[in-house]
Amino acid sequence: MSDLKRVYTFGNKQAEGKADMKNLLGGKGANLAEMNLIGVPVPPGFTITTEVCTEYNTLGKDKVVELIKKEVEAAMSYVENIMGTKFGDKENPLLMSVRSGARISMPGMMDTVLNLGMNDDAVIGIAKKSGNEHFAWDSYRRFVQMYGDVVLNMKPATKEDINPFEEIMEEVKHKRGIENDAALTVDDLKELVVKFKAAVKKATGKDFPVDPWEQLWGAICAVFDSWMNPRAKYYRTMNVIPEEWGTAVSVQSMVFGNMGTNSATGVAFTRDAATGEDIFNGEYLIDAQGEDVVAGIRTPQQITKEGSIRWAKLAGKSEAERAAKYPSLEEYMPAAFKELDETQTKLENYFKDMQDLEFTIQDGKLWMLQTRNGKRTAAAMVKIAMDLLKQGMIDEKTAILRQEPNKLDELLHPVFDKSAINAATIVAKGLPASPGAASGQIVFFADEGKKYPASILMRIETSPEDLEGINIAKGILTTRGGMTSHAAVVARGMGKCCITGAGDCKIDAKARTLTANGHIFKEGDWISLNGSTGEVYKGKIATIDAELSGDFGEMMQLADKYRKIAVRANAETERDCKVARSFGAQGIGLCRTEHMFFEGERLIRMREMILANDEAGRRVALAKLLPIQRQDFTDIFNAMAGLPVTVRLLDPPLHEFVPHEEANQQEMAAQMGVSVELIKQKVHELHEFNPMLGHRGCRLGITYPEITEMQARAIIEAALDLKKKGISTFPEIMIPLIGTVKEYKHQEAIVRSVANLVFAERADKIDYLVGTMIEIPRATLIADQIAEVAEFFSFGTNDLTQMTFGYSRDDAGKFLPIYIKNGILKTDPFQVLDQEGVGQLIEMGITRGRSTNAKLKVGICGEHGGEPSSVEFCVRAGMNYVSCSPFRVPIARLAAAQAELRK
Ligand code: PEP
Ligand code: MG
Repeated sequence: MSDLKRVYTFGNKQAEGKADMKNLLGGKGANLAEMNLIGVPVPPGFTITTEVCTEYNTLGKDKVVELIKKEVEAAMSYVENIMGTKFGDKENPLLMSVRSGARISMPGMMDTVLNLGMNDDAVIGIAKKSGNEHFAWDSYRRFVQMYGDVVLNMKPATKEDINPFEEIMEEVKHKRGIENDAALTVDDLKELVVKFKAAVKKATGKDFPVDPWEQLWGAICAVFDSWMNPRAKYYRTMNVIPEEWGTAVSVQSMVFGNMGTNSATGVAFTRDAATGEDIFNGEYLIDAQGEDVVAGIRTPQQITKEGSIRWAKLAGKSEAERAAKYPSLEEYMPAAFKELDETQTKLENYFKDMQDLEFTIQDGKLWMLQTRNGKRTAAAMVKIAMDLLKQGMIDEKTAILRQEPNKLDELLHPVFDKSAINAATIVAKGLPASPGAASGQIVFFADEGKKYPASILMRIETSPEDLEGINIAKGILTTRGGMTSHAAVVARGMGKCCITGAGDCKIDAKARTLTANGHIFKEGDWISLNGSTGEVYKGKIATIDAELSGDFGEMMQLADKYRKIAVRANAETERDCKVARSFGAQGIGLCRTEHMFFEGERLIRMREMILANDEAGRRVALAKLLPIQRQDFTDIFNAMAGLPVTVRLLDPPLHEFVPHEEANQQEMAAQMGVSVELIKQKVHELHEFNPMLGHRGCRLGITYPEITEMQARAIIEAALDLKKKGISTFPEIMIPLIGTVKEYKHQEAIVRSVANLVFAERADKIDYLVGTMIEIPRATLIADQIAEVAEFFSFGTNDLTQMTFGYSRDDAGKFLPIYIKNGILKTDPFQVLDQEGVGQLIEMGITRGRSTNAKLKVGICGEHGGEPSSVEFCVRAGMNYVSCSPFRVPIARLAAAQAELRK
């Protein structure tokens, strides 16, 4: 254990580490090493590995200090030799920075300490050596404050509390009548150091540590501790980063941007992180240290002249004022700028991706402090990869693998205007059920959606009755329900913004109010939803339409070149089919026919059927539904001409078609010409204790074969009608929720006999398939028997997940967040396929199915069909297609291509 190498040095164009050692040295440490190796000027230092962080968390502070002490001391001598200074020396002191750095950058989540090694002696030594007393004392006061905040835990616990150091700073500035920190005199700075130290004594009961080594161990341990701070933990949960990874600590010799007006510090991007344009850009501050740029105390200046001119226009500054007060680095320090520009080109060419850089200019000399692949928007992600491909810097496979499939979502839905969202107030948070941005006036009832030109529908939960209202509303919020709740599935299908399970919103539909964390909204009040983050905002926020740029189309074509599995869409309207096709869907994998009965005349006819007392009565109502259904299929088949369309027979329990609210029951009674009592009685009869496991799926078609007959007829007739017009169709008729072969055979027999009857009537035929959903665990176990008769399987992983875990898909929102928080589950299995458990059933279903029917076509149509890691699983499992909501089709196409490239 003790001969393990735990500390890696770098400096003077040499390094013990390199770029591909990110797991051990963290992103920052690995790239600092690599920059040395390629001759970029980097202050020397050393990196303590991520493995030490793990040891720290198990063995504790003292043991770990003992383990690394010798290596750290040796590394410090290495730095001292290069710098010609000495850590802890009075005359010629070496100052250090201590920074965190995990494998994946977690911006702002962990801690940093600068100017370490400062004390009452060092400050004099530094002042003498630099000939700049102001700079020396400025560095000292910064150190006491930063060390107090980070290592001595003096940072206020809440935003409302005042930071003791800031309070003192304000006091001194106020007394002196100055606004800018840079205007503080040496005496002011000395006063600050004394007062800061007194604040430390008051808060901790101890003197500020003067021994540089004590300071160093304190700072290293504080960085390790910051790996476990709530912010970092939350970030890890959000981004699924394992706790075991740990953070590395990079200890680096200080270079000073606060050494006067010939010094500066800044951050830069080799390309535009928002648009992806190949424009070098960034900000800097003269006579400042790193944290000043982000702290927002002073207005940072632009690095390039072009950027500076653009900035001045937006900020309403005249050219004269810009040039005098806010010159670009290019103008202000041309030599340092030239070197920075050359370095950014070198780094981007070397790392072959857009770089996010940190630099300091000390007395005219440029030093690089960090380089990493920059975070970027989806638009920039696509553009940068396609540009790098065209510039010959990366190959096609790399360009595809550089894309984050889920991020494409941003390109497919309207989005909030960036500056507007920054100024808005968040009032609540729910599940990001369907992405996009929506602002509208609140309505609490689905049938009131039309009251306002833009409405947001607020419901405790939605039911199929609400469909029309959902369609009209700009966005939907429910206080209950998860990612596969009705509202979520329907909204995603429509590409409509939706937040579900917003538990801290209380809806009082009677009073028509919504209460969210103390804010009270009435009907008609403006509210905004961000379906991509689950955030709910007060008031109206401007949105901009999504643009599918040329690069996006090109990137999708490139992905298709490598993709093998087909991608279909789940859709049941002509409009959705068109959207799906425009996004590249190669067919419909699930047409949920129940969605066709939830509005207007169809709903009335459906209810007529439900109210009928006998088969004869049901047939009368079904006869009226037939032409409507046939027209639906005609429209869908036409929109998908030449492509397969899987139509699923009626699936949901019938109670979903009848109203449960008194007012709606009265309305229905009036519409149907029957008494309210009769409606109530029917609703009562249809009530089930567990409708998800009740009278639904093929159980309906078996109880009421006439429903299956009507649907089969509508499908076949629609296809024959189109054939006459020369339009080819490929219907695939799908039986839902089977668990036994006999269920399947019962329904298949009806479908085939109706089809033959229609063929005889029309003296014409078409090709069609009959197959089944596989969504009950038992069906996966007897898949070999089912495949002897079924022509295709479509895995309904929503129900299969529900029944495998025994979690109700509509109620899991209550406990899943707690499961995830406690690490019992890593992700929501209704969003990310549980490959370990449910995945086994799928694999078994496919293997057994194909053992008796080698030609068996296999797909997935649960929500997982559009989730990247689940798509990858489906590719590996050998499925023929995945099917997802239209707006996820490009994501699935990309994920499928990536899966092939990773095989
Ligand atoms: C499923 O269960 O995965 C499925 C696609 O069907 P539904 O969501 O309509 O139950
Ligand atoms: Mg299902």
